[in-house]
Amino acid sequence: MTMKVSCPTCQKQVEWSTENKFRPFCSERCKLIDLGEWADESHRIAGEPDRQQMEQMSDDELMAMMVKLQAKPDSD
Ligand SMILES: [Zn+2]
Repeated sequence: MTMKVSCPTCQKQVEWSTENKFRPFCSERCKLIDLGEWADESHRIAGEPDRQQMEQMSDDELMAMMVKLQAKPDSD
C-alpha cells in the first residue's frame, strides 16, 4: 500500500516514500516556495515577491531569491 499526501504548496497528490526527498512536497520547487513564504512572514520586506509571484518565477529566479532570503541577517 502506498500512502499519498497532498503537496502543501500546489495540492498535487504525491507519494509519501523515502525516495521522495522533498516530501511532503512534490518537488524542490514547491518546497522552496513554502520556505520562501515562511521567510516572508517572519522577515517581511516591502518589494519582495509574494507567493503568487514566486509561483511564476523561473527556477533560477526562485533559487536566487532563496539564497538572498537565507543570507539575510537575523536582526531587525
Ligand atoms: Zn507541489
